[in-house]
Amino acid sequence: MRVLVVEDEVKVAKALKEGLEDERYEAVVAHTGEDAFFRINTEQFDIILLDVMLPGRDGLQILTSIRKRGIITPVLLLTARDTLEDKVAGLNSGADDYLIKPFAFEELLARVRALLRRGRPADSLRLGIGDLDMDLVTRKVMRRGRMIEVTAREFELLEYLLRHQGQVVLRDTLTREVWKETTRGTPLNNVIDVHIARLRRKIDIEQSVKLIHTIRGVGFMLREGEP
Ligand code: CA
Repeated sequence: MRVLVVEDEVKVAKALKEGLEDERYEAVVAHTGEDAFFRINTEQFDIILLDVMLPGRDGLQILTSIRKRGIITPVLLLTARDTLEDKVAGLNSGADDYLIKPFAFEELLARVRALLRRGRPADSLRLGIGDLDMDLVTRKVMRRGRMIEVTAREFELLEYLLRHQGQVVLRDTLTREVWKETTRGTPLNNVIDVHIARLRRKIDIEQSVKLIHTIRGVGFMLREGEP
């Protein structure tokens, strides 16, 4: 899940980004309305956290223009102005929800999760194989009902393998799709192998059925038991 944080206060933006990354979301920050508008029009996000008070083009103007362009990404407005007028204006401009500053991070997280779930069938928000479960909204991984602590990168790597279970996944593909390196000169093979080894220790250790398999000289495959 990719989150755009639109916030001009550098400290607040940094805290939000770090908090979201701790919860294994991918977070991108835009400090100005112009940068936000450009990114929303050129990149894909699952949710936008939009500060209302921005220098230049403000949050409500951005919201109105993106909705006019037919962009339906959920928007959570962050507003310091606790007046009924602003809330009504925000919701009329196409916001899905709003949060009054200052807010507790847990509250923000709860709203984000609710918006990410909204309008999507429950089974599209989970991935799994055998006794392994991944919740794409809460960013949690469980095996046999036991929580597995993974980093943001490990989560993305496992998500990719789950979406392509039973298929051979090449290191080149992982470089491109998980590490988002499209123009890299040197291969990322060592980095990928280290991450796969860590993921394997977390997921397959002490399990009789192994899920992550190395296909020698080719790549990796996620499946129940030996390929
Ligand atoms: Ca602001």
